[in-house]
Amino acid sequence: MKCDRCKTECADDELIAYQGQKLCEDCYMDSVSPLKACDPWAVHSAKQSTQTADVQLLPIQKKMLKAIETQKAVLPELLAELLDITPRELQRNFAILRHMELLRGFKGEDGKVYWTLFES
Ligand SMILES: [Zn+2]
Repeated sequence: MKCDRCKTECADDELIAYQGQKLCEDCYMDSVSPLKACDPWAVHSAKQSTQTADVQLLPIQKKMLKAIETQKAVLPELLAELLDITPRELQRNFAILRHMELLRGFKGEDGKVYWTLFES
C-alpha cells in the first residue's frame, strides 16, 4: 500500500484514512495539525517571495531546494544519499515543500519519479 499523498510505501496498518485518502502517519499529522506548511499565510508568502519562504524553511528543506536547484531534477533516493537523511524524512520534507509549491515530482522518460523545482 502507498500513501495517497507522498506515495511512500507503507504497511497496511500504518495507513490512516483521512478525508477519503489513505495517508501515512506523517502526511496524516501534516493534514490534521496546522503545520507551518499548511498555514495559508506561509503558502502565500512562499509564492510572493522566496526570501520570506526561506526564513520559514528547516535547514534540511533549504538543502533539498539547493540541491534540486543545482541538479534541476533529482531522484529521491539519490537526494536522500546526498543529504544523508532517511527516505522517510526526505519524503516528509518533500511533502511540505510540495505543499508550499516549491517542489514537485514528475515522471522521467525512464519511468522513474524525479523531483524538481515547482516552477521549472
Ligand atoms: Zn505520506
